[in-house]
Amino acid sequence: MIKHNVTATADLFGHWFIVSQGKIWLNSVDAAPPLCRYDQLPQFLDGSEPLCLLGAIEGVDCYLLNYTDRPEAEEQWHSARALLQQSAAIFEHAARACQVALFFQTHRYCGQCGSSMHLVNWELAALCHKCGHRCYPRINPCVLIAVVNDKNQLLLARSTRHKTGFFSILAGFVESAETLEQAAVREVKEEVGIDICNLRYMGSQPWPFPHSLMTAFIADYKSGELVCQPDEIEEAHWFDLDQLPEVPMVATLSGQVIQYIARGGR
Ligand SMILES: [Zn+2]
Repeated sequence: MIKHNVTATADLFGHWFIVSQGKIWLNSVDAAPPLCRYDQLPQFLDGSEPLCLLGAIEGVDCYLLNYTDRPEAEEQWHSARALLQQSAAIFEHAARACQVALFFQTHRYCGQCGSSMHLVNWELAALCHKCGHRCYPRINPCVLIAVVNDKNQLLLARSTRHKTGFFSILAGFVESAETLEQAAVREVKEEVGIDICNLRYMGSQPWPFPHSLMTAFIADYKSGELVCQPDEIEEAHWFDLDQLPEVPMVATLSGQVIQYIARGGR
């Protein structure tokens, strides 16, 4: 990492993602892009904060500036969710910024021998010089599964975490040594008690809350009765496509898959 007062490496017209404790500093959520330029960096920065190059959006370099103490009263700190409605490239770089910042924060010491970790300068990794333990930013794969039946209905569930909120397709984390497809079959069986078949891959989306990679499938209902797992699912129902309840926004992968099915996709 370098310091941001080393102006030889600082692009005055770059996008600056200032991240602290999982939140991003934005000039305004409604501005496009809402990110800081070098001459707009907030006053509380003193030039000693570590930064790294994240990539580029349409040829404009993007920097992560990792700020550890977040001023509590400031209203310009936002979740990366605030950038979902911006371009996919901005959201993806915001996701990367949050995840890399979390990686720096949680890998200061070696998990194997307890010594200080050092950042590798040619790849995004942390290395222990004492025992050789090397770590990369954590990514947790998750599966989203949209189950459809032969009555042209979509299975949607409401999580116990959203007592009065929206319905969505089923979701779960991939376990060790499991394929995405095996995870999808297992999660549906565990959460609502039914068997599925004919999985079709639909796409993926980085989801930095805190470090997931969402992958989505459509699957056909095969057999079984709906029985909700009490700890996970408040309720689950088959919905006709013209009578869907409130569902996630289209900026999310689950929202995109639901919209695709509602428009006749399979
Ligand atoms: Zn070590």
